[in-house]
Amino acid sequence: MHELSIATSIVETVREHVAGAGGGEVRRVTLRIGRLAGVHEDALRFSFDIVREGTPLAAAELAVIDVPVRIWCPTCEIEVELPSVQSFACPACGTRSGDIRAGRELDLESIELAESVEEAKP
Ligand SMILES: [Zn+2]
Repeated sequence: MHELSIATSIVETVREHVAGAGGGEVRRVTLRIGRLAGVHEDALRFSFDIVREGTPLAAAELAVIDVPVRIWCPTCEIEVELPSVQSFACPACGTRSGDIRAGRELDLESIELAESVEEAKP
């Protein structure tokens, strides 16, 4: 399963970060996933729940930022957001374009440690 290796990689990366920060529990992990990344969020969450057992991420919330697909329209000369991935054409003028500028992301956006949240309180 594709998502299992992604989840394993995320957990490993976060564990290394937590160890580097002196340890602690992770409160939230935020990912940015493009609609063209080929990741099924449900499958990823399922895999994440399995691989995080016994790690500092055991109680972490997994937040996902959905990144829409953006292409460059050579006619309008702007970057446009596609309403769906069924058609790679500018929604304004209909020009087809394969010049993808966003939507393939699979990034670790942020890691929130339980301690850092406590420290952030006034
Ligand atoms: Zn256009």
